[in-house]
Amino acid sequence: MSNTRYNIRTAGQAKIPVLGLGTWQSTGQECINVVNEALKMGYEHIDTAQAYDNEKEVGQGIKKSGVARDKFFLTTKIFPDDMKFEPEKLKAAAKRSLENLGTDYVDLLLLHWPDDRVPLSETIPALCELQKQGLTRNIGVSNFNIANIIEAKKYADVPIVVNQVEFHPFIKQHTLQSFLNNHHILLEAYSPLARGDVFDNEIIKEIAEQHNITPAQVSLAWILSDNKRIAIPKTSNPDHLQGNLDAVEVQLSADELEKIGKLARSDGRKIEHPDYSPEWDD
Ligand code: NAP
Repeated sequence: MSNTRYNIRTAGQAKIPVLGLGTWQSTGQECINVVNEALKMGYEHIDTAQAYDNEKEVGQGIKKSGVARDKFFLTTKIFPDDMKFEPEKLKAAAKRSLENLGTDYVDLLLLHWPDDRVPLSETIPALCELQKQGLTRNIGVSNFNIANIIEAKKYADVPIVVNQVEFHPFIKQHTLQSFLNNHHILLEAYSPLARGDVFDNEIIKEIAEQHNITPAQVSLAWILSDNKRIAIPKTSNPDHLQGNLDAVEVQLSADELEKIGKLARSDGRKIEHPDYSPEWDD
């Protein structure tokens, strides 16, 4: 990454632009177009995963944009299906991702979910080796609880820089966040718009009106008000791209941040994976 135009967060050697484009459920030509538009507009961070079945389209969008590979941060994730977490399968899967994306390296390679079937003593060293071989610049995890991370760290000889987890105004994550802060791991907020739920919240709408901005921008600005967080809102609609990116400039008052901070509720979580979800921390 060079000459980044918006803020970055650092962890280990990683320099991660604070706002990335999520691509889950972006498919086909729509995905190619939105990735192309995003990169040309100034997005410097794209998030995909093998499980999204769109790495090829993300790769085509990157190619179409003409933006040089070292100008943006690219993340993909390895899914635990078919025991891919066995070391050799994991390495083969990572190589397939690079081929699909049309790149020699990603900036961040994540284990998408913890998986009890294959021990972290096997998967984490394999991930570390991929970093040493240059296939990824950094490694991280996703949907890991504190116990998972403590175990993962035992087997990692390079920094785990990110835990990508659900985070938005309706979910707490206080315990996880303070653990991550203490271990210099960034919290990467997925579903940062609560998959659309933030648009209907009265407090968020009121704050948005006062600033003449959108509820999406309020949610993103609230997340990014803590400098240990990153957010990756998804849109397939090019009309939503600029507004989401502009949220990095929005400053909310202490009072507004506090009001939004009180919206967390016990049923606020949107994503559960029946086969893989760990026991969540709050
Ligand atoms: P999200 O970003 O919270 O919300 C996406 C929804 O908001 C879409 O319906 C999108 O519709 C809409 N939207 C976005 N910007 C908008 C705007 N400015 N105005 C109005 N509507 C807007 O949900 P998400 O896709 O679950 O999460 C984001 C990303 O996080 C994913 O794409 C993926 O990359 C990652 N993720 C990771 C995991 C994991 O297990 N690691 C799990 C879930 C998600 P349009 O497309 O029409 O704009």
